[in-house]
Amino acid sequence: MKLQCASCLLRMASCHFKGRLAARPQLMSICDICLQAGQPAREFTNPAIAALAEIQLVTFVGTKATTSAVPVAKTSRVRRYRKQYESFLHAFDHSELAMKQIPRQRLNQAVLASERGELPVPDLTHSLNEQLAQLGLVATFQLNEVSYLTRAQIRMKYHYRCQYCGRRGDSIDHMDPVSRSHNNTLANLTLACHECNRTKGNMPYVFFCRLNAKLAPINQQLVAYEQTLTALKSKLQAQHQALAAEVHLHGVIQSPGLNQQRQVNKQLQDVLDSLQSDYEVLCQQRRDYLVTSWQLAQAQQRGDII
Ligand SMILES: [Zn+2]
Ligand SMILES: [Zn+2]
Repeated sequence: MKLQCASCLLRMASCHFKGRLAARPQLMSICDICLQAGQPAREFTNPAIAALAEIQLVTFVGTKATTSAVPVAKTSRVRRYRKQYESFLHAFDHSELAMKQIPRQRLNQAVLASERGELPVPDLTHSLNEQLAQLGLVATFQLNEVSYLTRAQIRMKYHYRCQYCGRRGDSIDHMDPVSRSHNNTLANLTLACHECNRTKGNMPYVFFCRLNAKLAPINQQLVAYEQTLTALKSKLQAQHQALAAEVHLHGVIQSPGLNQQRQVNKQLQDVLDSLQSDYEVLCQQRRDYLVTSWQLAQAQQRGDII
């Protein structure tokens, strides 16, 4: 899904607008690039994103009142080169390889410098790799692109299950990481969730699996959390819709029945929130364990620790 930033007016994937505050998901009125540039998300209006946030039951960070916030687009060359920036960001967001190698903050910095005129505007006649290079960003793409068909095959083969933790997964993982081998054969490809894929990063396959095996009970818990959260979210969404339909049908906003239903929904939302934050704590603990163990192993290898 593409959304439009209220500041730079660029249309980009919804992931650019997602935020989180104390484990509660949020949708921002402006994109992460403008946010990184110090634009105040709270002071921008964005009716489309506000409506989306309402439907998705998440907090909207923005204002519904008229605003004096000055959009970037009015003052910069983003407006003039809108197509270029949008296409470039779209290509980046769809390249797992680029995203794995270039941190989002680093990309945003480069885009901002380009918007200020300190770096060139991405040239769409060039490949993504070359466009990144123009912005001073380096990524390796040799031999590593897995075809669309292969990706689809792998997702089907593993029924959208992460082969490491068992949660829902749709990202293609090189068992032997790209940085260590350029093995693009099916034998080296598996399916992972985004979290396992990101956390595994440069770890050798065998090393990651050994650590992950120790986490089996935690992984089982995470799967159970995920199932409960998914079920709860869809239940709550259905109840919100039913409530909205009821209001629409009878044209009344307040009635004992409706208020009771609102109360039930609120309680359900509270349960969902606390479950979500427990889940995130567990995710974080798992990530910390994996990453720390890897850092330790590397330090030992370098001889920093005996
Ligand atoms: Zn923006
Ligand atoms: Zn996973």
